[in-house]
Amino acid sequence: MLSENKTADVSFESLLRIFTVPEAPDSTLSRIETELSQNLNQFLREHIVAEEKRLSDIEKDFSDPILPEKPSFVSDHTQHLLDTLVSQSVHTSAPSFIGHMTSALPYFIMPLSKIMIALNQNLVKIETSKAFTPLERQVLGMLHRLFYAESDAFYTKWMHSAKHSLGAFCSGGTIANITALWVARNNALKADGTFRGVESEGLFRAMKYYGYDDLAILVSERGHYSLRKAANILGIGQDNLIAVKTDDNNRTCIQDLEQKLSDLKRKNIKPFAIIGVAGTTETGNIDPLREMAEISHREQCHFHVDAAWGGATMMSKNNRHLLDGVELADSITIDAHKQLYLPMGAGMVLFKNPDAVSVIEHHAEYILRKGSKDLGSHTLEGSRSGMAMLVYAAMHIISRPGYELLIDASINKAKYFADLISKQEDFELISDPELCLLTYRYVPEKAQKALSLAAGDHKDKLHRLLNELTTYIQKRQRESGKSFVSRTRLNPAKWDYLDTIVFRVVLANPLTTESILSAILEEQRDIAAHCHSLRKEIDELIEKIQDSN
Ligand SMILES: *Cc1c(COP(=O)(O)O)cnc(C)c1O
Repeated sequence: MLSENKTADVSFESLLRIFTVPEAPDSTLSRIETELSQNLNQFLREHIVAEEKRLSDIEKDFSDPILPEKPSFVSDHTQHLLDTLVSQSVHTSAPSFIGHMTSALPYFIMPLSKIMIALNQNLVKIETSKAFTPLERQVLGMLHRLFYAESDAFYTKWMHSAKHSLGAFCSGGTIANITALWVARNNALKADGTFRGVESEGLFRAMKYYGYDDLAILVSERGHYSLRKAANILGIGQDNLIAVKTDDNNRTCIQDLEQKLSDLKRKNIKPFAIIGVAGTTETGNIDPLREMAEISHREQCHFHVDAAWGGATMMSKNNRHLLDGVELADSITIDAHKQLYLPMGAGMVLFKNPDAVSVIEHHAEYILRKGSKDLGSHTLEGSRSGMAMLVYAAMHIISRPGYELLIDASINKAKYFADLISKQEDFELISDPELCLLTYRYVPEKAQKALSLAAGDHKDKLHRLLNELTTYIQKRQRESGKSFVSRTRLNPAKWDYLDTIVFRVVLANPLTTESILSAILEEQRDIAAHCHSLRKEIDELIEKIQDSN
């Protein structure tokens, strides 16, 4: 006999099999499917290894550029994926991993995703999506109503109107922000008299026609980096994304906004969009939306609200007042894959005015015919999956009051954690939570006293050492694999606007308990205690500071 080892062969028959025959019930793949649906958390815990492997070592598993000349058995390859890929991925849904904006997924998502993938509908046009198209329009309608609360007649009239749209579904907040600013730009430079609009004639001629020297977008310095991409792609230039100063709570400073607007006017630069952030990525704070809307209106600017992260707060009647004024926005970005607890790939932009998308409409003869209901005629992306089905399902299965419970619980948990941090002698709360996001750092008691005494170089140096300590703790904690917080850099007024490295936590996961939070602080304290060289350096500096006082 030849070899005992079976090898897969290339034949048309075996190829046909992968399109038709399901795996045997005892195959690796079937086993995994059962484990996944019976206890997802256990599956992830068992298959994702806790100990961190260096990225350079992981790269070795993925360094062969040769396309396989031999097929693999599904079971063998699945095992290979488990060993090399799944094992080295990140357990984003672990209750002690509180550094990500995406958290645990509800169970029903797994089987429903399978239906969605199996149907493989393409939302770009009706021909390949049929009922998915009205479903997506309904999802946009439901969210539009959540934010804008228009009348029943409004939704009856516009939700399914071929030439209108209450929003656009896309892969995420980045595309949603780009789409909103695309609409804003095209509206600011729309067809007028002999000018056929920026979409036809381009920026250069648009500027000549309208007599502007330049264009600008204004957002606070806490604006998301996707806005820089938008400014770049839309031909505005990143330099013309004007960063407005923030107050002590990371909110747009209205005075500085007014100052920047008058500076632009003096230079004959047209600000065509003002952006309010509803839940900043770093600190979760919400801009004064109402005031910003009034200013935008006065300046005839498009007012966009980037609520990618915080938008879900509208689900809670108890907390939606935090987004007061959002209903005045011309457009709103939301990410369902953040606080709506859905898998990645579900971004949306909503438009107050159902006519807004007409300035970005595109048609093609073979699809997207004029007057058709094809969603692709006003989306940046072409082919798109039926993700809206998962949003639709979650809104029915969880329902608005269910989301309210989730949102309220997360905000309360953040308040609890902030309180817990404030009670520790050796931790410092940096940003108080408005939503479920807060930042803090570890500062030994002696260092806190020294910081208040120190001045000049000493103060800067101590601050820098504390930044190193925070970075060290965050890295070690991640590497040990038990828990995860992220880190970012802020410039708090309390510390003279010096660069301050902080831990950042997002408390959205409903499975995160109070004892997990205590354990995370305990672990950080423990890591700090074992960071001998840095601690020694800090202690020496503290002595110097004490001596010079
Ligand atoms: C996450 C986020 C985005 C970007 O969304 P993606 O889905 O990552 O493209 C934009 N703005 C804010 C405020 C965000 O939190």
